[in-house]
Amino acid sequence: MAFRLAPRSIWQASNRLTGLPRVTATRALQHARTYAVSSDQNPRTAIVTGSSRGIGKAIALRLAQDGYDICVNDIHANKPGAEEVVSEIKSMGRNAIHYLADVSKLSEVEKMVETSVSELGPLNTMVANAGIAQVKALLDLTEEDLKRMFEVNVYGVYNCYSSAAKQMIKQGGGGKILGAASIVAFKPFALLSHYSASKWAVRGMTQAFAMEMASHNITVNAYAPGIVGTAMWDLIDEELGKLKGAKKGETIKKYTEDLIALGRTSVPEDVSKVVSFLTGPDSDYVTGQTIVVDGGIVFT
Ligand code: NAD
Repeated sequence: MAFRLAPRSIWQASNRLTGLPRVTATRALQHARTYAVSSDQNPRTAIVTGSSRGIGKAIALRLAQDGYDICVNDIHANKPGAEEVVSEIKSMGRNAIHYLADVSKLSEVEKMVETSVSELGPLNTMVANAGIAQVKALLDLTEEDLKRMFEVNVYGVYNCYSSAAKQMIKQGGGGKILGAASIVAFKPFALLSHYSASKWAVRGMTQAFAMEMASHNITVNAYAPGIVGTAMWDLIDEELGKLKGAKKGETIKKYTEDLIALGRTSVPEDVSKVVSFLTGPDSDYVTGQTIVVDGGIVFT
């Protein structure tokens, strides 16, 4: 015979469990004082890696609009783009610098954090956005392909997370750390396997950092875009097209029509809006999460 609880019995039972410790309003407040991040510091500063173009640029501009002063990072090859983003931010009335550094090199990331702090002030937010993609069949991957993918997408994120966290701990005021994952951190794309694996690593590392940073009032989250029309997807479209005999632009169009519930390719601002939430005070009680922003491709 099936056992059924009366509709309110679970609630009533929990009310009767008087032996268990209860969180009173006062205790909840004490706990909040210990752990909740106050991101209401003014002015706030953020480092956004890989922000000379694409999603990173949209994030840098959005955070400037939110009141942040920004350290715009990219590699030397993208110096002109980085300088343009800095000018755009300054024209919005906020302060900005560019810092050219390869995120896969820990010493360069450490110097970037140091420079950002001395030029802009204490570091409140790190957005480890820089990443690379490569389209290649698993059995064609070379040791160098795998190594570079993990150096940039995984070591790069670790370098940014850890250098920012050490600075934030030294400052003592908490902070927000974010990383770029992807929908492929939930379900890999064929021919993007090592890229997918690197993004799974970002998701895992984000959860681990969230646990270890919580006592320092630092929240750690990741964002997982879907198919965003940037230089990265130009490359993926072109390379998948070559392998599948499709013309330029056809693959992204097909993926958009077949996969995205909302029926349009994403733009970088779709992602920067979510990052704005994750770097703002409304997400103070969110940590260890990888938030999907893909128009409805994967459902978590
Ligand atoms: P993008 O290629 O347009 O921009 C990435 C930027 O990162 C470039 O300016 C590049 O120069 C920079 N970069 C690369 N290696 C670097 C390094 N070692 N050090 C510093 N900067 C470096 O790509 P995007 O589409 O704007 O992607 C941004 C992030 O979002 C990436 O991590 C990417 O994997 C992720 N993402 C993108 C999509 C998408 O559809 N475009 C989807 C999911 C996740």
